[in-house]
Amino acid sequence: MSFLRKLFGRDDDASIEATPSAEAAIPKSDAPPAHHLRVGAATDIGQMRNHNEDVLLTFSSEHHGNAMHDTLGLFILADGMGGHQAGEVASSLAARTVAREVLEHVYLPYLIHDAPDSSQTPLAEALTQAVEQASKIVHHAVPGGGTTLTCALLLNERAILAHVGDSRAYVCHKDVMRQITRDHSYVDKLVELGQLTAEEAAAHPQKNVLYRAVGQEGSLEIDTHLETIPPGSRLLLCSDGLWSMIAEDTIRQILSEAPSPQAACDQLIAEANAAGGRDNITTIVVEVVG
Ligand code: CA
Repeated sequence: MSFLRKLFGRDDDASIEATPSAEAAIPKSDAPPAHHLRVGAATDIGQMRNHNEDVLLTFSSEHHGNAMHDTLGLFILADGMGGHQAGEVASSLAARTVAREVLEHVYLPYLIHDAPDSSQTPLAEALTQAVEQASKIVHHAVPGGGTTLTCALLLNERAILAHVGDSRAYVCHKDVMRQITRDHSYVDKLVELGQLTAEEAAAHPQKNVLYRAVGQEGSLEIDTHLETIPPGSRLLLCSDGLWSMIAEDTIRQILSEAPSPQAACDQLIAEANAAGGRDNITTIVVEVVG
């Protein structure tokens, strides 16, 4: 069993939300099938803003050999907030911090060791710690700035997500799309409590106000989620400049029908701009190829 698989499979992974299908998909064989990732990514300033506070960062690696097939991917999307350029500094710093932490604590140990040692951090914990670290660094380095942060760490067809804010992740499999993150916005909370309808929330003047953001003072609650991305399905990370501009069914249709992940990203951004492009628009689409 490979080093990364052992880190995925440790008992303390049970602390994160796991779907039954995700559990069933845990590779049992020492010679798993080879997977590849096809990745698309795009960011656009939109039609109304004079700068782009969204940031995306992607990293993927394939290792095939010695009865081992590991495909690892790290996908990060951050949507900054705060005046005087604080937003774009915060989102960039947060994304770079998560990438650096994951490479240092997950990827480099994977290259160095051929077996895990007991001091090695499980992947979900490593990703959560990376987001916590990003929040501390943003808080100290960018006073008045904050950011959403949605990160997906993929190992073959399994994904761990860590999420704060109102950027979103969706999974689309066989034309069926599901949102797998929850918005940390006040209006979403009011919808959850039955005090607003989804339509009222979409038109609410304070729809962009978050109750949780990376860079906030004090401890940060981070949502984590375990998901299976079976071959043929696509994972979308996007900022609110996408999902607030176009209907979810339009997103689903483009995500399922675009000929490639990059084509999906480009079409989604074109649709959001055509609908008015009131905010910066950012998309990352990852397809697992079996
Ligand atoms: Ca935004």
